[in-house]
Amino acid sequence: MNDAAEGFESTYGYAPEGVWAAPGRVNLIGEYTDVNEGHVLPIALPHCTRVAAAARTDGVLRLRSREAGPQDTAELPLAALAPGAVRGWAAYPAGVAWALREAGLPVGGADVYVESDVPAGAGLSSSAALEVATALALTELHGAACDRPALARLAQRAENTFVGVPCGLMDQAASACCTAGHALHLDTRHLALRQVPFDLAAHGLRLLVVDTRVRHALADGAYAVRRAGCEAGARALGVRALRDVPHADLDAALGGLADTGVRRLVRHVVSEGERVRRVVALLAAGEPRAAGPLLTAGHASLRDDFAVSCPELDLAVAVANEAGALGARMTGAGFGGSALALVEEGAADAVGRAVADAFAAAGHRAPRVFAVVAGDGARRVSRGRAGS
Ligand code: ADP
Ligand code: MG
Repeated sequence: MNDAAEGFESTYGYAPEGVWAAPGRVNLIGEYTDVNEGHVLPIALPHCTRVAAAARTDGVLRLRSREAGPQDTAELPLAALAPGAVRGWAAYPAGVAWALREAGLPVGGADVYVESDVPAGAGLSSSAALEVATALALTELHGAACDRPALARLAQRAENTFVGVPCGLMDQAASACCTAGHALHLDTRHLALRQVPFDLAAHGLRLLVVDTRVRHALADGAYAVRRAGCEAGARALGVRALRDVPHADLDAALGGLADTGVRRLVRHVVSEGERVRRVVALLAAGEPRAAGPLLTAGHASLRDDFAVSCPELDLAVAVANEAGALGARMTGAGFGGSALALVEEGAADAVGRAVADAFAAAGHRAPRVFAVVAGDGARRVSRGRAGS
């Protein structure tokens, strides 16, 4: 039996019907493109959130998480769920139940126990892992049919509308739709998915994640300001969203924008879309090494134009590159969280050490540095006592 099933049993006094797992993610390239209806290229992490669950027939949702602790539990009648009604971590799984039911899916009550090794708040998307694992558990427990892209959309709706975080679709789509050994090329407007080969070990490469373990307080407000600026840019250019500005037309588009702040946001989003296109082409051609400089260019654009980096992320990227990385960038929404670095297998240890040393020398908290491979998206990992 795994930890989630054990936690469930000691909490509720009986065995769960099953355990479902959903991973966190890192985005290789395509930052802030999803909130402009554009393209992203995440991989699923080996790190997962697991949900052990059993259906209830009384319309009640009981929630417990190992990470939140036994003092922070919830017992919620589904009929009373509404945006704003639930606070704290329970809003994520409760919001999923609400969004599934709002979409007309026959989802009823459940006992739920959550346990995770996705670091929370590290920009690796523990929130989407929690939502997607819960969504998969509830739909399978209640026999509700929902394909993976639709599941991701409903999980996003839970986070946007029920929890109140205006995130794009990338995190939920990565957690729901990734496959091992591949990056997920996702067109967030059309929900078109393509699995792009991403087996770095076969090329003698590694992907390092540097979790800076900082999260600067201005993140939420800055996020809303960037989104509003992108929308203003799209309006000024007469397009539905910035993904509709072709890269070839970027200079002309920038020339037509009076507001320098908006101009910078537009330059990031449109150039980042082009970087996604180029990295996808390189991976598909079996040339992952050549993607390195595009990662670093993406970081410069996020730092200088989109202005969502921070000293710790800039340091991680600069030192990784100086220590021999092929390229590096912040990943996720920024203002802390994680960076990634593409490195030769033989340079991985030296790059990790150099980043750790530089953080110590700068007086920053010690970062967590680890290598990741592209893992699988959400799945059922156990059928409970009868079938496991
Ligand atoms: P990220 O998604 O980058 O990890 P977020 O701020 O979007 O950061 O989501 C983190 C929040 O998600 C936590 O504060 C908590 O409310 C919730 N969460 C994630 N994982 C768990 C878990 N295992 N148990 C309880 N809550 C969790
Ligand atoms: Mg999140």
